[in-house]
Amino acid sequence: MGFRFNDIFQHTVKTGNNTQFWHDTWTKSKKLKSLYPRLYELEKKKKKKSCMVADRITLGGNNWKWKSDPVVVGLSTDLENLTKCIASTHLQSGEDQIACILTYDGKFKVDVLRKKIKKKPSLIINPLQIDWSKIIPIKVTTFIWRAVMGKIPSAMALSHRGVNVDTYSCSSCIDGLEDANHILVRCPYAISITDDILGWCGLHQVKFQSIEEVIHFAAYQGRSRKERDSITAICYGLLWNLWRARNDRLFQTKFIYPSRVVENINFLVFTWLKCRGKGNMCT
Ligand SMILES: [Zn+2]
Repeated sequence: MGFRFNDIFQHTVKTGNNTQFWHDTWTKSKKLKSLYPRLYELEKKKKKKSCMVADRITLGGNNWKWKSDPVVVGLSTDLENLTKCIASTHLQSGEDQIACILTYDGKFKVDVLRKKIKKKPSLIINPLQIDWSKIIPIKVTTFIWRAVMGKIPSAMALSHRGVNVDTYSCSSCIDGLEDANHILVRCPYAISITDDILGWCGLHQVKFQSIEEVIHFAAYQGRSRKERDSITAICYGLLWNLWRARNDRLFQTKFIYPSRVVENINFLVFTWLKCRGKGNMCT
């Protein structure tokens, strides 16, 4: 049984000297080559190892080497999106690292991989360990799955699909670009609610950077199946409610205070757990 390297590992960029700009997975869950195939076609240095992150991101700005000017050939939107996609990467000292996304601490362990292959072969295709437990309504689990894949309709996702959006900015903090990871994990609004929820559960505080990290956290917490199910329900309920609060803000101009979101999560998760095993009817 084969598996793809990028299904198991993700790059964390520091100096950018050891991460390939187009061929490694370092910004989202996909390579830039797959996200922006038309721009990749225009790249002068396509060969593997010939174009590293540090070659394209410099202190003076982005250092592109195109065969033709993307703007002239009608790819200005793609170029704009690519620029936004890498804008949050700031090169710094230290070595680029590769972390295993199958384990919570990022360390690759052969026995963990072997166990996962044995237990559930489909994990090799989807190693994100999304829990399709009956406790959590299917619409929520589907949402989580789409969020991890970057497929929820955030401003950035819509713009990647060619939809015109009024603004790319987050409707809560303004500073951030509105993508799935920002809305659900990195926005100060999400961080404050996550901290409260983890504190409420008696869990240690974790500074998550991505939705995948929340999913892995949920998958590895708890000393028993029951405890793990509860923590998973809490984490999924957290992400689901952050999305609902964002939609209320955008579409109903209703700002839900973080303390209220925490209450909503507590109530929702309590309802799910109460309905455990009763046909997934509770929402
Ligand atoms: Zn924000």
